[in-house]
This record gives sequence, C-alpha cells and structure tokens, in this order.
Amino acid sequence: MKSHELTFLKVKIEQLKEDGVYRELPVNYGPCTNRINLNGKEVVNLSSNNYLGLANHPEVKEAAIEAVRVYGAGAGAVRTIVGNYNLIGELEDKLAEFKREEAVMCFQSGLNCNIGTIQAIVERGDLIISDELNHASIIDGIKLCKADKAIFKHSDMEDLERILKEKRDEYNNVLIITDGVFSMDGDLAKLPRIVELAEEFGALTYVDDAHGSGVLGESGRGTVDHFKLHGRVDFIIGTLSKAIGVIGGYVAGKHETKTWLSHRARPLLFSTALPPAATAAAMKSVELLMNSTEFTDRLWDNANYFKAKLGKLGFDTGHSETPITPVIIGSEATTMQFSKALLDAGVYVSGIVFPTVPKGTGRLRCMISASHTKEDLDFAVKQFEIVGKALELI
Ligand SMILES: *Cc1c(COP(=O)(O)O)cnc(C)c1O
Repeated sequence: MKSHELTFLKVKIEQLKEDGVYRELPVNYGPCTNRINLNGKEVVNLSSNNYLGLANHPEVKEAAIEAVRVYGAGAGAVRTIVGNYNLIGELEDKLAEFKREEAVMCFQSGLNCNIGTIQAIVERGDLIISDELNHASIIDGIKLCKADKAIFKHSDMEDLERILKEKRDEYNNVLIITDGVFSMDGDLAKLPRIVELAEEFGALTYVDDAHGSGVLGESGRGTVDHFKLHGRVDFIIGTLSKAIGVIGGYVAGKHETKTWLSHRARPLLFSTALPPAATAAAMKSVELLMNSTEFTDRLWDNANYFKAKLGKLGFDTGHSETPITPVIIGSEATTMQFSKALLDAGVYVSGIVFPTVPKGTGRLRCMISASHTKEDLDFAVKQFEIVGKALELI
C-alpha cells in the first residue's frame, strides 16, 4: 500500500458528498458588514456575529492601525515570557470596569478561553454539571480536564437540582456551566435559578456569555448584568470576537481567578498573545460601548423590527429573547432549499440542520445587527415572503 495518498481522507470526503453535506467555504470579498460581496455577488448579510457593527467602525479601525504603528504586527511571545505588552493589561482593566467585576484575564479567542479556563479551575475529585446545549468550546474544555461530568437537560432546573442532590456530596468542587445565551434559539439561561441552586448546594457557577456580551444588560454588559446577578457568578466568559467586533476571549471574576490562570491556563503559557491591533481595537470598541447606548439601542430596534415583520408573515420565529432570530422551517432538505433560494434572491442566511439542532427542527438563523438599515431588513423580509410562498410554507 502506498502511503501519503491519504486514501482514508478521500473515502471520508466521498462519504460527505454522498450524504449531501459536502460544502466549500464561501468567500467574502470585503468587510463583514450589513451587505457583503459573497462569492462575487452582493447580498444582505444575515449571518454575522458583528452585532453592533463595531468590526467596521472607523474609530476601531484607526485604533488597530495606530497600535500596529507603535507595537508592530505581532506580540512576539506568549504572555508569560515577553508577549505581555502593556495594552493587554489596559484592555483587561477596561473590561473589568465594563463588566463590573474585580478582574479580567484575556485570551486569544473565546474558544481558547474556555479550553484554558475550565482545565485550570477544576481537577480530579471535582464535578462539572453542564447544560446539554452548551457551546462546542465548553464541551472541548470539559474533555481536556480531569473532573467528572454530568449533563442536565437544556435549561431544565429540576434536572439540574436532581443531579446536585444526587452527586454534590461525592465531590470536592462542583462547577455548573451554562451558556448565557444559547446561540441556536437565542434563549437565555435561567441564571437566577441556577445561581440560587448553586448557592443552596455550595457549587460554583460558570457562564459563557459570548452571545450576551455587547447585547444584553446596560450598554451590553451581558446576561449577568441583565439579571442583576453581579458578585454571584464565579466565572463570566466573554468574547471579543462577536459584538466587540475583533478577536479574543476573556474571563471576568475575582482577582484570584486571574492570578491562578496566569500560572496555569495553557493558552496563556503555550500560545502567543493577542496581536496589538486586536487588543487596541477591542479596547476602542469597549470604550464606545461604555460611552453610549446608541449601538445596543440600534441593535434591539432592528431586531424587534425584523422579528415583528417576519412574525406577521406567519413564520415561526421560535422563542428567542435576543436579536438571534431563528425561522423554524422543519425538514432538513426544505431548510437547505430555502437558504439556497434566499441566496439566489440576494440574502445570505445560513441554514442550520441536524446534528447541530434536533431532527425536524431545521431553521434559518438570522443574525440581526446594528449595522443593518431598514432597507436591508425590508429587502430581506420581502425575499423571505417570496421564497416562503414559493415553497408553500406561508
Ligand atoms: C462563539 C462562541 C465561542 C467562541 O468564541 P470565539 O472568540 O469566536 O472563539 C465560545 N462560546 C460561545 C458560547 C460562543 O457562542
């Protein structure tokens, strides 16, 4: 047998094609904003996480350019050696002020942050209790640590309580992990009850607020602020890659968390620090958010406008409590057909099907942004109407 031909991968790729799930990555020839040039065609973009349009804000771009002039393109090392240039600490202090927490530790991405933090804060003899719909990066973080795990049914507080009752006494620390906002349906974690249960059973709480930061709470301070739970959630994860518009992740919480992570979080020890452009741009985004509710106001105004119009047409927009607007279609094939027809009509919205969501609940997930104009949203709704009628869904 000849080696290096990677026949095993060729076979797997053929299988993808047979299963109808093979795809090529779409190419965006320009900034990721309200309208994009996707594969050479201008479309209204209903699929980005750039919730507030900050990825393309002139002051944010300028901050990145200025940081490159002063600090260069790369950090040059991991943070524990000489990659800890002073802008990172300034960003962390700014984020701590924004999140109203004692201290913040930044990572290179939200995924890195979950992988590094979960592994560092639990050990053998501990138990993690995780919502079944938690993000993939949490699942990976749990896989990398030595603690035991238990999964509770999505947002089912009785199931969570049952696990706590059954297992609490067998473990040292118990850590309850949940997304703040669940990205496929846009629903919120039942944080007040989770915190109550954690306090009753002496468990720690960990909230990944990637889709809540910059969206919920005062000026986008997040889900914990939305529910007024400051000081009662131990580890609050945020990303700088979504509403903040750049790249990076962070943990907000106590000083001790930050100190411990600086000694034990592997992405900080073994992977190069955030580049200066990203650090400076993120800091500018956070400053803009702290100085004005203009961005979050526009986001919610757009989201409410779009949801109301789609609902009026008779589409099922699920039970989202955030600007994430799922349009539930049902069958996997019809969902993909709908997405394709919308793209032909000039609207890009990704179809999400099994196994990402349960069978028969295929949906188009519309991500509304502050950067959309009313014309963008009206155009998108019109195309939804035309395609929906053609497919006899409304
Ligand atoms: C997007 C997301 C992440 C990953 O964030 P990146 O900064 O893009 O790596 C982590 N957790 C949740 C819940 C997310 O939605």
